[in-house]
Amino acid sequence: MSATATFSVSPKLFEPLGLFGGTFDPVHYGHLRLAEEAVAHLGLGGVRWIPAGQPPHRGKPQVTAAQRLEMVLRSTAKNARFSVDASEVEAAAPSYTVHTLERLRCELGGEKPLVLLVGADAFAGLTTWHRWRDIFSLAHVAVSHRPGFPVEAGSLPHDLATEYVDRWLADASGLKNLPSGGIVTFAMTQLAISATQIRKLLANGLSARYLLPDSVLDYIELHQLYKST
Ligand code: ATP
Repeated sequence: MSATATFSVSPKLFEPLGLFGGTFDPVHYGHLRLAEEAVAHLGLGGVRWIPAGQPPHRGKPQVTAAQRLEMVLRSTAKNARFSVDASEVEAAAPSYTVHTLERLRCELGGEKPLVLLVGADAFAGLTTWHRWRDIFSLAHVAVSHRPGFPVEAGSLPHDLATEYVDRWLADASGLKNLPSGGIVTFAMTQLAISATQIRKLLANGLSARYLLPDSVLDYIELHQLYKST
């Protein structure tokens, strides 16, 4: 009797993986809903959270990278679809998204669809990111709506508007057909929460409760973070 070997490619290989970078200073429910709703709207297998170590586009965060990482770990721990990537926090150099994507391509191979998750405000600033055009050869970009930041070509810088129009996919199910290169938008529950607002509340001794998870607030209180602006 001869045995016939059958080979099958794991569907997981082509299941899109969301990548969610940010300063998370601190992480809040706007971030958490974005990641949660991205899984549902974009058919993602999961979301890998990537807290920035030294974000190059903004002033120095108020708390250490290790503390921001810890808050992300606490807020995502109970969600089996979320994982946390500490590589940017552990790196000595500034965090450039394009470098992180290159590293992930080495780790995950060239075929897996990767989907960079960004809010509309972050997307509007994409042309200021290091080697921003190369990002499209490494990942798709999924842009979530955010209160106060319209997602439309007319409000984007010219070069980005061109990419947006050329790459836009009307149907997010197209993300799984290619490893990178598409742009999708998705509507999430609109939460006008920002880390800036939370830092200000805390610096003024006011309550930030219900804007972020209690586990994060407990950590902030324990370590007396954000006591001043
Ligand atoms: P800050 O107020 O300090 O600038 P932030 O609240 O914008 O912080 P970031 O860590 O800078 O948070 O954001 C990480 C990502 O999450 C960005 O892509 C941003 O657009 C997105 N994001 C943050 N808050 C929201 C929100 N309330 N709704 C949708 N997207 C959001």
